[in-house]
Amino acid sequence: MDMVLPLALLALLAQPPADPRATAQPDLVDLATLDAAIRLDIRYATANNFLGRPVYSEARAFLQRPAAEALLRAHRRLKTKGYGIVVFDGYRPWSVTKLFWDATPEDRKRFVADPAKGSRHNRGCAVDLSLYDLRTGRTVEMPSKYDEMTERAHPGYRGGSRRARRLRDLLRRAMEREGFTVYEYEWWHFDYKDWPRYPILDIPFSAIPRN
Ligand SMILES: [Zn+2]
Repeated sequence: MDMVLPLALLALLAQPPADPRATAQPDLVDLATLDAAIRLDIRYATANNFLGRPVYSEARAFLQRPAAEALLRAHRRLKTKGYGIVVFDGYRPWSVTKLFWDATPEDRKRFVADPAKGSRHNRGCAVDLSLYDLRTGRTVEMPSKYDEMTERAHPGYRGGSRRARRLRDLLRRAMEREGFTVYEYEWWHFDYKDWPRYPILDIPFSAIPRN
């Protein structure tokens, strides 16, 4: 227990890195306001995540406005194919990225962002998501679970069921069409093309209006 207090104090003193190229004005949109059929399953507001405890005080998700609008277009296209989007995470305060990094063993660090560089989630330009079936309401089976730190999470993984791979690839195509790029280690993580324009933020969810 001796370690707890100094680490907590260090975390309070830590500041997000500045990026001089990131000059766009942040304009975070609450994804719950976009379309009633976009479902939120904010794992980091629950104990159902790789840390086993909540790290967000509110079950909300945000993206910068152009990324949010692109996500909405992807969702509408997927709806015509019988699927809706379920969002696990969007904008993530930088201090939470630091917490993940400090809690992750060396051999798994490729699955988390280095706080010295900041994450595209910190810029409000990355989203973690999956699909649900509009008829049954159930989240679809994908080749791996969300936040599973194995090769099954890689977007090119050839194992698992054909149906799971087909749905993973359907999600990827819909997102790529709208300017998102899948992360090479995680089928669920997508970066929006404008991410370099937005600064690394550490605004708590409670400070973001329910617009
Ligand atoms: Zn992610």
